[in-house]
Amino acid sequence: MDRNKGAGFVTAMAGGGTSNGNVRVRKVVVVGGGIIGASSAYFLAKRGVEVEVLESNGVACAASGKAGGFLALDWNDEGGNPVGPLSRASFTLHKELAQEFGPSAIGYRLISAVAANIPENARHEASKASYLGSVSKETVIGTTETCAQVHPEKLTKALIRGSSAKVTIAKVIGINRSDSKIASLRIEGGATRPIAHDEAVVFALGPWSNLVSKELGLPTFYGQKALSMVVPTDPPLSPYAAFTNWRGKNPEIYPRADEAYVCGFGESLRMVTEKPDEVVPLESGERQLRAFTKEILGSMGDGVPVRACHLPLTEDGIPVIGSLESNGAENGVLAAGHSCWGILNGPATGKAVSELICDGEISLIPKWAVSSISPARFPSRTRSR
Ligand SMILES: Cc1cc2nc3c(=O)[nH]c(=O)nc-3n(C[C@H](O)[C@H](O)[C@H](O)COP(=O)(O)OP(=O)(O)OC[C@H]3O[C@@H](n4cnc5c(N)ncnc54)[C@H](O)[C@@H]3O)c2cc1C
Repeated sequence: MDRNKGAGFVTAMAGGGTSNGNVRVRKVVVVGGGIIGASSAYFLAKRGVEVEVLESNGVACAASGKAGGFLALDWNDEGGNPVGPLSRASFTLHKELAQEFGPSAIGYRLISAVAANIPENARHEASKASYLGSVSKETVIGTTETCAQVHPEKLTKALIRGSSAKVTIAKVIGINRSDSKIASLRIEGGATRPIAHDEAVVFALGPWSNLVSKELGLPTFYGQKALSMVVPTDPPLSPYAAFTNWRGKNPEIYPRADEAYVCGFGESLRMVTEKPDEVVPLESGERQLRAFTKEILGSMGDGVPVRACHLPLTEDGIPVIGSLESNGAENGVLAAGHSCWGILNGPATGKAVSELICDGEISLIPKWAVSSISPARFPSRTRSR
């Protein structure tokens, strides 16, 4: 049995049947307004589905507004990684989105990438050709054929606008189920959002997915805090991303048209307990990020705030995308745990979610990859109904 097919998810709903006997989902409630929720909203709207987004703080307020936005066609290809086909599909979708929204509106451009070893006490001499100057040994690891970048916050907001979704600022604190379906969402403050027979729910909560994982018998989701700065640059830096080795750490730099995004100094993996607007940098990480930025970009980063956010992670390092039918919520879909590739894989995830809801199965990527990313891959755990 192909447990991810989700045919039951679509057919289980009453009313408004389509010509093939399946039931059309009229409206979807997306919980979480990051890149995954926004992409789901966008591709569902393209299929004619009305979307409402419930977001606790603000669209792109977490990792999706603070990420680097580096995209690579084939960096997830190795070793039969099921994320590979998703990334390839998403890389192409990013190109199409850039045409649709206009490249500069979402900060899309092709770039190359280098691995750079920056020795201790090296003197930095930037040149027009290389902002890393003479301090590093560089190896080209990506070209403009296979690498690109976007501005994650601009893209996430453009996708929400493009979906015409109604965005409601509301913190979902739990779900009520009945007959193996989500009957309503509990909202902080005492309200509930009933889920009608022709509605479905997409959970796109990133590292906050434990909101539903325990109740639905899914493994724990984790977050790994990482820090970033956005430094204005005039003139612009040469357009290549740098993956560096600096004092035993691996900070990264992504130049953009008029600024440079610098990130790194992650903490260890843990369950996320802070609210999205309470994620702050640790002092030691902030000190290191500032020292690195000073060494590479000189005084340009002085006074620029350091931000923190969580990479969303799963137990096995693979995102969870698919129907929650076998978890006792047949009108629910989960899309979370995209680690350091959520911006790259957002559009393909959103398209896959729209296919699952509108067609009953994901056809964007091969079947073996669909089942490898499905929630049904986890052995069933105790779950309350
Ligand atoms: C420093 C850093 C750099 C990165 N760089 C890149 C990169 O270059 N390329 C790349 O592809 N990826 C990158 N990533 C990864 C990428 O940012 C994430 O994988 C992606 O943003 C995850 O998106 P998401 O929508 O799943 O989660 P999030 O962006 O975390 O969104 C989840 C949303 O859910 C909301 N929410 C939480 N709880 C509730 C609730 N109870 N009710 C309602 N709403 C709720 C939150 O407010 C938030 O808006 C980077 C990540 C980090 C940390």
